[in-house]
Amino acid sequence: MNLVTPARLLDEKAGVSHSGAPPVPRAMTQTQPILRIVDLKKTFDEFTALDSVNLTVDDGEFLAIVGPSGSGKTTLIRLLVGMEEPTSGEIWLKDRRIDDVPANRRPTCMVFQSLALFPHRSVGENIEFPLKIRGVDAAQRRARALELLDVVRLPQHYYDKRSQQCSGGERQRVALARALAFDPEILFFDEPLSALDFRLRKMLEKELKDLHQRTGKTFIYITHSLEEAMVMSDRIAIMKSGGFEQIGPAEEIYAKPKSRFVAEFMGEVNLFHTRDGAASIAFEDVSIDPAVAKARGLSPEFKGYLMARPESVRLLAAGEVADATADGVIESEYLLGSRMQYLVRLASGYKVTVELSRENRVSWEPGARTRIGFDLDRAHLIQEA
Ligand code: ATP
Repeated sequence: MNLVTPARLLDEKAGVSHSGAPPVPRAMTQTQPILRIVDLKKTFDEFTALDSVNLTVDDGEFLAIVGPSGSGKTTLIRLLVGMEEPTSGEIWLKDRRIDDVPANRRPTCMVFQSLALFPHRSVGENIEFPLKIRGVDAAQRRARALELLDVVRLPQHYYDKRSQQCSGGERQRVALARALAFDPEILFFDEPLSALDFRLRKMLEKELKDLHQRTGKTFIYITHSLEEAMVMSDRIAIMKSGGFEQIGPAEEIYAKPKSRFVAEFMGEVNLFHTRDGAASIAFEDVSIDPAVAKARGLSPEFKGYLMARPESVRLLAAGEVADATADGVIESEYLLGSRMQYLVRLASGYKVTVELSRENRVSWEPGARTRIGFDLDRAHLIQEA
């Protein structure tokens, strides 16, 4: 973990600006934009890494930015913290334009994935570093460091412990406490948990979410892990090829993706494309009674995908009905902890993923014929050629 020195702090010798007052719960606060990005563009020679990106982040929000490798996540963060200059566009922090403000003068802070604590110094000294460079006196520094140990859930006696003697997870917490000591307007995280083992990562995901609630700060968090984004954030921004494909709360993006790319990025999904040349609306593999399609408002002109998440699809018992159905053969079964997953091959060869709770596990033989079905109120249409 590493920190870009927020700068305001180097200039201001004003002492500890954090009041120590308990944070106001987010639900009670009036949100207002803290960050506005307008038509931000970054090119490297001929290559466009960011293409006219627009984004508004509310004060106190936890925004996760996810996207495949090379989609521009790190480039965006580097522009926001001032480590890279934009080719064009604007970055606003509240009512101040900051895209031409150098990194060391931006009131933001970045927590990198690699650790960059002073190994031979104590935890307390590490946390106090930002306060020391601001000229805060020793007693105040110590008081704030002890407060921050509490905030990141480390025992007070860690104040005197060498940071080298802390475990990986503890060091992440010390680095977080140090980032909070900077008292930044926004904390940026670039995959801070990716190097940690699974159990620790899961624990810190929840702790970071709690920390966000407790501090009321704005967090902008890059991750490859969709699950991490879903657990922690208020909104998720999905990046693709240097732009945002969709931004919204996790449930919305999961249930109502705007494109096939987002649908597939957000987890396992079944997608049935419209069939060309049919008299009324029809999809590959699945049958929908035309009267049901009409009643549900499916337009005959619609072109694109009918999407059903695995948990919306059922294995139908004899005589059981559903809005959309298809015959198939069970190919495999997987136990996913409390849930069961089945792969069912349909006539075209397409494999549907069906997820059931473990109590609804079915007994089957290889090659067993089955019928899958789902209702249209649990499905979603994606308009796409
Ligand atoms: P990852 O998840 O792998 O870290 P990312 O989404 O963070 O990827 P970026 O690091 O922002 O992606 O890179 C976006 C694109 O810009 C990539 O194709 C990358 O090769 C290119 N790029 C980034 N920095 C430079 C640079 N300094 N010079 C040339 N190309 C660059």
